[in-house]
Amino acid sequence: MSEKTKAEQLKEKLYYTPKTAAETLSVEETAQADAYCVGYMQYLDNAKTEREAVTEAIAQAEKNGFVAYKRGQALKAGDRVYYNNRGKSLFLAVIGEKSIEEGVSIAAAHIDSPRLDLKPNPLYEDNDLAYLDTHYYGGIKKYQWVAIPLSLHGVLVKKDGTVVTVAIGDKPEDPVFCVTDLLPHLAADQMKRPAPELIKGEDLNVLIGSRPFLDDEGSESVKLNILNILFEKYGIVEADFLSAELEVVPAFGARDVGLDRSLIGAYGHDDRVCAYPALTAIFALEKPAYTAVTVLADKEEIGSDGNTGMQSAALSYFIADLAATFGVEVRHVLTNSLCLSADVNVAFDPLYPEVVEKRNCAFLNRGVVLTKYTGARGKSGTSDASAELMAFFRRHMDENGVLWQIGELGRVDVGGGGTVAKYIANLDVNTVDLGVPMLSMHAPFELVAKTDVYMAHKAFLALLSRNEKL
Ligand code: MN
Ligand code: MN
Repeated sequence: MSEKTKAEQLKEKLYYTPKTAAETLSVEETAQADAYCVGYMQYLDNAKTEREAVTEAIAQAEKNGFVAYKRGQALKAGDRVYYNNRGKSLFLAVIGEKSIEEGVSIAAAHIDSPRLDLKPNPLYEDNDLAYLDTHYYGGIKKYQWVAIPLSLHGVLVKKDGTVVTVAIGDKPEDPVFCVTDLLPHLAADQMKRPAPELIKGEDLNVLIGSRPFLDDEGSESVKLNILNILFEKYGIVEADFLSAELEVVPAFGARDVGLDRSLIGAYGHDDRVCAYPALTAIFALEKPAYTAVTVLADKEEIGSDGNTGMQSAALSYFIADLAATFGVEVRHVLTNSLCLSADVNVAFDPLYPEVVEKRNCAFLNRGVVLTKYTGARGKSGTSDASAELMAFFRRHMDENGVLWQIGELGRVDVGGGGTVAKYIANLDVNTVDLGVPMLSMHAPFELVAKTDVYMAHKAFLALLSRNEKL
């Protein structure tokens, strides 16, 4: 090899040149990333809703020595506890060696994903076909949700409080459901509609049956037959839909994508692709220096409102309870805390280069994305992490062998969005966004790269096992 020229040496020293996984990961580490993603893909298939994500996370936490937290219980370094917030959000903690007053480390991801929610009174019959009426949840392109196999997940709570859990459509032997679309032959008018109205929200009605009850000649006998099937299987009646949370989601599981199997296609990567690494990172701890907290939040896709969303006081109450055990004021803990608000970000898509700015956007297979700010129209609605915090994570991730890159949520004034970062930052916690770059975000089949998923695990582990403060 020839000697490097002066200019080449100077460029190496002075330029910021992002690295790819291919340039930095050994063959062994790439294989580790692939192996890590096997567990992630199982988690995806077992956790298609926020409730299932909590149930599965608790099952794995208990296998990893975590116990249900009881307010006021004695705690010491190395203790592992979890707090189940109404079955839809979860906090886990491993108590650190240092006083909790020095702050905690928080990895916070969300476990709700865009979908179709059933309306309170969803079941109806129209021309001998039975349907479930829905109200979509989160930012979806409605045309993506027609003519694909769908499954039904969730709970109905009977008047007496009995909870009936439903999951139909994901086992090979299960039936699936779907929303129908118009044949192209007769769609000339439909195809002229602007895309947001191509499929209308009120037409996202899920077909669930077509056969009448026995030889009944009466009206609505297809609906009657469906209700009878539901009664025989679950003991529920139509009124039980009034007190239910039933979610319609894609019926297919996570799959390897590409002949090289470098990508994962699945429903619900946003944001289980951060939730799962935030879990495996806290599971990997023994006695961290700082108390480590993993947060799995609900309701992010509709604004983080409510008592299971990140705008609720539940997280600060949980940390206050931990702090009280040690006689420490919660505000002192929060002020000194560090948080990676974990959420996905847009990856550069060569088919749509116009929506991002290439010097500041994330790419697949270049590691996790550290995102200084999100927001829209002049950074509105973001906590915008400080230069000091960015410097801390630059150093910390480099020192811990985390492949990472920077990202933005699109070109200026093209659109934008937000994450839970600002709600945690508003608690006086030092917070920055970090997550996995993604293609086809919010589609029924989203794409991420395996090396990036593994780097999310390494990034959260680096945070939760940190020895230094900001
Ligand atoms: Mn998200
Ligand atoms: Mn989202």
